Amino acid sequence: MNPWLMSLLLFIFLSMFAGTIADRYWILRAGEPDPRLDHIGRRLRNLFRIGFGQQRLLYEKAAGRMHVAIFSGFLVALLRTITLIGRGFNPEFHLPFLVGPVGVAYTFLKDTFAVIVLVAVCYALYRRLILRPKRLHLSGEAVLILFWIATLMISDLLGDAAFFTLHPDSPERTGAWVAGLLSGAFAGVGEAGLRHWFNAMYWGHVTLVLAFLNVLPYGKHFHVITALPSVFLGRLTPSAHLDRMEFEGRETFGVGRIEDFSWRRILDMYSCTECGRCDDMCPANLTGKPLKPRSIITNERDQVYAMADHYATVGKLKAQGRMKEAAALIESTPRPALIGEVNSEDALWACTTCGWCVSSCPVVIDHIPNIIDQRRYMTMMEAKVPSALQNALKGLENNSNPWNVGSAAREDWIGDLDVPLMREKGQAEYLLFVGCAGSFDSRNQDVMRAVCKLLNTAGVDYAVLGTEEGCCGDPARRVGHEYLYQMQAPANIQTFQKYKVRKVITACPHCFNAIANEYPDFGLQDVEVIHHGELLADLVAQGRLKVGAAADKATVTYHDSCYLGRHNNIYEAPREVLGAVGGLDMVEMPRNRREGFCCGAGGGRMFMEEDLGTRINHERIAEAAGTGASEVCTACPFCLTMMDDAIKETDRQDDMRARDIAEVLLENLE
Ligand code: SF4
Ligand code: SF4
Repeated sequence: MNPWLMSLLLFIFLSMFAGTIADRYWILRAGEPDPRLDHIGRRLRNLFRIGFGQQRLLYEKAAGRMHVAIFSGFLVALLRTITLIGRGFNPEFHLPFLVGPVGVAYTFLKDTFAVIVLVAVCYALYRRLILRPKRLHLSGEAVLILFWIATLMISDLLGDAAFFTLHPDSPERTGAWVAGLLSGAFAGVGEAGLRHWFNAMYWGHVTLVLAFLNVLPYGKHFHVITALPSVFLGRLTPSAHLDRMEFEGRETFGVGRIEDFSWRRILDMYSCTECGRCDDMCPANLTGKPLKPRSIITNERDQVYAMADHYATVGKLKAQGRMKEAAALIESTPRPALIGEVNSEDALWACTTCGWCVSSCPVVIDHIPNIIDQRRYMTMMEAKVPSALQNALKGLENNSNPWNVGSAAREDWIGDLDVPLMREKGQAEYLLFVGCAGSFDSRNQDVMRAVCKLLNTAGVDYAVLGTEEGCCGDPARRVGHEYLYQMQAPANIQTFQKYKVRKVITACPHCFNAIANEYPDFGLQDVEVIHHGELLADLVAQGRLKVGAAADKATVTYHDSCYLGRHNNIYEAPREVLGAVGGLDMVEMPRNRREGFCCGAGGGRMFMEEDLGTRINHERIAEAAGTGASEVCTACPFCLTMMDDAIKETDRQDDMRARDIAEVLLENLE
């Protein structure tokens, strides 16, 4: 073709691209270190499953498949682009593995995907411009990119059509079925005309590809470049796990400025596609709170791009180890406050840490640590917490429970029930970790008594810690009081070790998550944590709990706890417990399992006022009532409280009640 022209194009476009990527790289370096190159095998699996396999998009029918089609078309077209660039230097150029029948098969695939991509682009335009789903912002950039993609596909096909008309004996022609059909359009065009067509399409296509590469980093389509690295470098721990914060050698705790984030959070900002999936089922967003998880990421990204030079300079200084100069530059540079101006405090406190956003994001952006890091700053650096939360924090500090009841009363719920205490028994197969709700909240004390009666009936060897138990630390950690959490978790771990605990049962998904997923960071090893739903399902299956038919033929719906379901993937065991009771009519709410709607209590929200928008638990109980259920069952003390409150507050006491699965099971034992 024309090696000089191709060299010139490559030089201009690739050097511009390299400059942009270098700037973005230095901005990343402005973030704090966050090692992400461990467990390469697991990372590669995620890359293939979530990245190449587009797993999170396949949950959606039309929009997800449309994206998968365009993404796959890009992958297929990548080989074609390399080939076309090579042909700029040598018209006979072929990738060595794309010759003979494989080359023909590839050409067939490439043409097929070109058509699929064109159909997907048409649907995407129809969706954006005509259907206009609520979650999508009408963006000129998105429309331009769609036209760009369509032009790339069309120019490639037309270029091929002209080429194969000129060279009908070319071996690849057999595979080029679309170009073959299009070549009919060139009937009657002379050789010179065909050459002009081919050259125009060829150079146009190559120039558009290279220009496209340079446009991508300047908008949300940067994700085309960063999405796969983002997936590869994503978190490997369960979605509710928070990283241990180190206090040694730090002057600030949490994140009060972009530079306090880890580089990974900045990569999140680069990677957001603005698809709005995270907003779709965010309980705060859907009930009119000022929190939209997408906006958290895009607001931060807008600040990064608005001050790109500043962050790049900070990144260079940090990379050179000139920390004092970096710190001085950060201090002296005026910018809108991250907390208060970029993100409102109300938005940051509105999060229930339900995990919907994190689990739905196709590029594995981690909203929860982002939000919790900013809460840490507000709580530990500025002592700025919502007033209702102050009492809970006082209770956690003084009495190791957010209800602020004297810690000496922690085992009063036992009363005259036969519940073994670890300090008397010395050792047991299971430690029943009661949790603060089971210990101090009267409604949840009933649940805990039901659990103990079931364990006694099944002959389980267990014991409780009584006054030796402390809060698991979940509320303190989720509201950003990491310092307090790091006193609570080790205290419990020490007690576990004192009694050589190997198996823990808990009826609280928040305790479950803390002990199973977060205590290992503080030294708890080789301890199996079992939610009471799982244990009860097992005891029923083993015949150690014999269940009869329900005396009351109620219609029952099960409400998934976010910390049990979405965060820890336990969906079926509680349903199996309810299913074991004969005669119950089980119905599902429209939003269930992976899409379960939060009760509103997680993330410390249980201990804050909900005075913005409508109440999350009211929305959920209305959904439960919509199924015709007279009973909503839960497997979480926070969910139970929220459902109970919602029933009372919406005047449904005569038609509905809320119970824990253990209570239902106990009532229906043979
Ligand atoms: S954060 Fe993830 S889910 Fe939310 S808009 Fe961005 S890419 Fe989509
Ligand atoms: S964790 Fe839940 S409440 Fe918080 S931002 Fe994400 S979807 Fe919204």
